[in-house]
Amino acid sequence: MTAVNRQIRLARRPVGEVRAEDWTHGSEAVPTAGEGEFVGRTRYLSLDPAMRGWLDDRPSYLPPVGIGEVMRAGSVVEVVESRHPKYRVGDHVVGTFGVQEYALSDGRGTLKVDPALAPLSTYLGALGMPGMTAYFGLLDVGALKEGETVVVSGAAGAVGTMVGQIAKVKGCRVVGIAGGPDKCALLTGELGFDAAIDYRAEDVRKALRTHAPDGIDVYFDNVGGEILDAALTRLAMHARVVVCGAISQYNNETAVQGPSNYLSLLVRRARMEGFVVFDYARRYPEAAKELAGWIGAGRIKVKEHVLDGGVDDFPAALGMLFRGENTGKLVLRLA
Ligand code: NAP
Repeated sequence: MTAVNRQIRLARRPVGEVRAEDWTHGSEAVPTAGEGEFVGRTRYLSLDPAMRGWLDDRPSYLPPVGIGEVMRAGSVVEVVESRHPKYRVGDHVVGTFGVQEYALSDGRGTLKVDPALAPLSTYLGALGMPGMTAYFGLLDVGALKEGETVVVSGAAGAVGTMVGQIAKVKGCRVVGIAGGPDKCALLTGELGFDAAIDYRAEDVRKALRTHAPDGIDVYFDNVGGEILDAALTRLAMHARVVVCGAISQYNNETAVQGPSNYLSLLVRRARMEGFVVFDYARRYPEAAKELAGWIGAGRIKVKEHVLDGGVDDFPAALGMLFRGENTGKLVLRLA
């Protein structure tokens, strides 16, 4: 093959917000598949808040992306060359293939997906990693029970929209916290949440008193910071605080802001527990089956924010997550 493979590599470690100069845009020859390998052309690229953490040189659940390496990213590729026993040309495969137009893979950590069953983008969202995060975070870590009150922050995002809707399927009262009137209207309208709090315009503590009068049984935290602190003041007895993420803290140049109201865990005999979705990888098929059923039955609506462009648009697209410019799962569709 003589085609060119555009790639985005990490040029230097960002300090605070990620900047254009933190990336190198380049090209190399499209790889060729060896025995047991395949080459995929990227169709959809996933944008995830966790990417910010992967750029820092500190211990985490995955090693940091190295300087000069192709940026790590989940994507759906179409197989264009294969010497792999499981994959044929034309198959669609989901995996961590990086911010590049073509990827070489030995198939490890990949999964074949069917565009006839769901749009390809949905395998990066509702039926992909964010959907799995919502499902296991809420039902396993959060141990949700019918009739409970659930509050979710980052509610209009990839994970948040799924958390709230799964909780509704399970017969719970659901309050979403999101930025801006449009996102709040989406939550209480199309997505069926019982109430929404616009954290940019409202006093979150006061609003939680109104919308969770009997206290919060499960607080699913996507944002950390002041909103987490506000939620801690409203816990019901034996509440569960699910630490999914803390996007408000990811660009901090100083230490992460911890919760000052943590003693409410003691008073309310509550627990706070973090999790990493990858630990549930073996149970993904179980979750995907149930989620697909709810989506097919119209009980869960899939919200996606699809950008059209090339891998060179990746840096700008990543920034959108930190400015709240996406609604639902943010993906980049490659031409
Ligand atoms: P997302 O919610 O689709 O996008 C990020 C959203 O965060 C933005 O749209 C914005 O919405 C909100 N946000 C940005 N800055 C904020 C701030 N300073 N304060 C409050 N909200 C802010 O992203 P996602 O993919 O669903 O991820 C949500 C969270 O889950 C992230 O923290 C992510 O790291 C975490 N996560 C964890 C796991 C795990 O295994 N533990 C797996 C996947 C994701 P607004 O307009 O509402 O501000």
